[in-house]
Amino acid sequence: MRPRIIRIPVKLAALLALAFALTWAAAAQTDWLAPEASIISKFEFEGSEHSHVMEVMGYLTDVYGPRLTNSPNIREAGEYAVKTLSGWGLANVREEAWGPFGRGWSNEVFEASEISPRRSPLIAYPKAWTPGTNGPVTADAIYARIEKEDDFAFYRGRLRGMFVLTAPMRIVQAQFEAPAHRFTDQELAEIAPPRPPQPPPDKEARDRQRKQQEFNEKLVKFLTDEGAAAWLEPAPHDGGTLTVMAGGSRDPKDAPVLPRVAVDIEHYGRIFRTLDKNIPVTLRINIANKFYDDNLDSFNIVAEIPGTDKADEVVMLGAHFDSWASGTGATDNAAGSAVMMEAMRILKTCGMKTRRTVRLALWTGEEEGLLGSRAYVNEHFADRKSGDLKPEHAKLSAYFNVDNGTGKIRGIYLQGNEAVRPIFEKWMEPFKADGMTTLSARSTGATDHVSFDDAGLPGFQFIQDPIEYDTRTHHTNMDVYERIQAADLKQMAVIVASFAYMTANAADLLPRKPLPKH
Ligand SMILES: [Zn+2]
Repeated sequence: MRPRIIRIPVKLAALLALAFALTWAAAAQTDWLAPEASIISKFEFEGSEHSHVMEVMGYLTDVYGPRLTNSPNIREAGEYAVKTLSGWGLANVREEAWGPFGRGWSNEVFEASEISPRRSPLIAYPKAWTPGTNGPVTADAIYARIEKEDDFAFYRGRLRGMFVLTAPMRIVQAQFEAPAHRFTDQELAEIAPPRPPQPPPDKEARDRQRKQQEFNEKLVKFLTDEGAAAWLEPAPHDGGTLTVMAGGSRDPKDAPVLPRVAVDIEHYGRIFRTLDKNIPVTLRINIANKFYDDNLDSFNIVAEIPGTDKADEVVMLGAHFDSWASGTGATDNAAGSAVMMEAMRILKTCGMKTRRTVRLALWTGEEEGLLGSRAYVNEHFADRKSGDLKPEHAKLSAYFNVDNGTGKIRGIYLQGNEAVRPIFEKWMEPFKADGMTTLSARSTGATDHVSFDDAGLPGFQFIQDPIEYDTRTHHTNMDVYERIQAADLKQMAVIVASFAYMTANAADLLPRKPLPKH
């Protein structure tokens, strides 16, 4: 994500600088304590013997998944989360609306088969926010080698009613390496120091990418205008696993596109090679997709454990609740949501008193650009346009996020905030034996803590074992319940509960980085 610049008026800036100097001085004097062993063992007992984390996982995936933002599924999943959190006795459980996000979308029917020269079902998925086919369509497939705008002329008038492939076949390698992986000590040691200086951004590569994107938009419009029955696109990954994201716009005012289908590479390959032999291929595809325009706003879910003597100060835990639409969004990010809910349950059930308020937030719209958390930060902490800070900005100690799949916690990214290092070093101590060993000087991006970090608030994301995240589950049709490691989720919930507890009961708010400058 691009770092966001916050503008603040000069006088306010001077005041804030003073306030920060004082905060830093206070931080230097504060004796940041290590967690008490008796408290950690309470959390560990509750989190292992009475865990609800896999039960919540099962509901968020099998019962309500996938949870595409503004789909009927995610609205039902939200009701389930509110009911569950209320049932655990948490306070102020509610949905906070934000928006507009845009229309909802769901896939209702998807059937795709090759029917000639051979009969064979296809592993394929419709792309989100694309239309359906208006009933079953039987038509020939065509490989239209369209690589640049000049190629449009040759194919004009030749694609109507056909299933169009435009991408050449790619090479598919054997998977010599196991898809699942835990960080070795050496790998953790490698991500601990600051990122080595990066070569300047490759302007040519960026230009190429931008041009490719512009060309793709023209290609979609061309295929739509030509009346192709659907665009079949070879998906990333292989072995029956495929990445499926959006193919159309969530803005109801945008022009509709043609049906777009992500196809498993091996099945794409068979169609492609058969056509290459000049043997006609006939496919039968039936897609029913629905759009929902009745409510263009979305929602975040919030729940609290009210604090005692410092109740107006807050520590937040969060994760994004939404997913893509082909799997059930298990590792991305029912896992994070279930872990954060479970951390709240552990704190509540153990009857822990927290001086500050502990607040859970489950975000939507993350997959479309951190939209839910940005809206929340904008509403509560700092105006994104003016940069003006709101009173709550001074009251948030930290925000902790989980969104890197099912793997257990191995450390935390300091996000460039070195002042928290000695504090987190102490808080991490009880979990070293269970693999949490690493404080990384690096910043990590691409999820909701960035919305806080951009506004000058301490926002942190934990380091997690990758397991099968990049190799198999992230944004794929195989992001499902089976890919979840229960023991890892339990470890995460206990650590998050402990970090939240320590933040909520510390003498001071956590130290901050200087505000992002104008
Ligand atoms: Zn995610």
